[in-house]
Amino acid sequence: MAAVVLQGITKRFPGTAGVTAIDGLDLEIKDGEFFALLGPSGCGKTTLLRTIAGLEAPTAGTIEIGGRDVTQLPPGRRDVAMVFQDYALYPHMTVEDNIAYPLKIKRVAKDKRRRLAAETGDSLQLAGTMERRPGQLSGGQQQRVALARAVAYRPNVFLFDEPLSNLDARLRLEARGFLKRLQRELGITTVYVTHDQSEALALADRMAVMEAGRIRQLGTPVEVFHRPANLFVASFIGSTPMNLLPARVEGRALAIGPARLPLPEGTAPHVHDGNEVVLGARPEYTALHPAEAKAAPAGGIAGRVAILEHLGTAYLVSVEAEVEGGDGVTVQATVPEGEAPAIGARVVATPDPARALLYRRGDGELVGAGAVTGAEAGAGTASAG
Ligand code: ATP
Repeated sequence: MAAVVLQGITKRFPGTAGVTAIDGLDLEIKDGEFFALLGPSGCGKTTLLRTIAGLEAPTAGTIEIGGRDVTQLPPGRRDVAMVFQDYALYPHMTVEDNIAYPLKIKRVAKDKRRRLAAETGDSLQLAGTMERRPGQLSGGQQQRVALARAVAYRPNVFLFDEPLSNLDARLRLEARGFLKRLQRELGITTVYVTHDQSEALALADRMAVMEAGRIRQLGTPVEVFHRPANLFVASFIGSTPMNLLPARVEGRALAIGPARLPLPEGTAPHVHDGNEVVLGARPEYTALHPAEAKAAPAGGIAGRVAILEHLGTAYLVSVEAEVEGGDGVTVQATVPEGEAPAIGARVVATPDPARALLYRRGDGELVGAGAVTGAEAGAGTASAG
């Protein structure tokens, strides 16, 4: 088992375009941790993983695994096992030989190889398939063979590159739970690349959100979900996108067109009258009231219901806000099943000030310390506005 420490890692691909895939990145992944690298396509996740594996040489910087500088070592001497999106199984070998192959390369004796392959195959419910070839397996089984091959090897570090993305939605959920349990049991440091924010949130002990070769936020899934450090992360995390509404500070209130909302908790000391900001409010933490109801709060964002989306146990309601000159300002809120307003109904949306966040319009960074509770404490990611 081993910590992975990256210092000043830069990876530039030469050529006419001269892409900088990783840009001076520092990162410490703890021993035994399940760490997710999350980001949009092209942000450098795979390049970073391949650099840790030794499949790419960094242009600058150092890589330590288990206290050992491995920057100059070939992949075979880093004691890592990588599982790719396409599983990369050997089509002409049986399942057993596929699982045992890296052990053969490691010169493990044949008896021991067979035993380790059988044990690992058993633990991954592959016992009945050991004599088959990959072409005779389902996608889910092939994925387990790829995992078994990595597990049997007992590396210091698992490197996973979107290993579940070829599975259908249900199998992916199953495999997710299975992977998490397996990693817990083995306690092997794991770096997991994904562009799927829900997968990162579900699996990781900690995660890094990347953009253009840099880390935009590092934290636990709870921290990243509840306190995105900047507008990039705020817009990337969440299965329903966060409302990000341009606003202006007016005294102790936020002006969004005619609406006057309280400042999100904890932000007042960090903003001044006239500051141009962006209010961040998840639909799950935004309440809706019929506009004519007595309970409708004064100062909320009034508008008309434009779209209703069924989410299963809730509805996502899109409200076109009545904001002067504010064409196309849409606020989304989730409401429980059975409480969805009618299309065209006039409603008032009010973000929960205890959950809402404020971002600076200029650099998009989170304002203030805000209300951090329970498991969210110690986020350490907020930058004062
Ligand atoms: P995806 O989720 O689409 O796989 P990613 O975040 O893993 O994306 P990378 O594959 O690491 O992104 O690519 C990062 C950047 O480096 C991209 O701009 C990509 O085009 C570029 N890149 C990756 N590999 C090479 C290469 N061998 N030669 C030149 N450019 C490359």
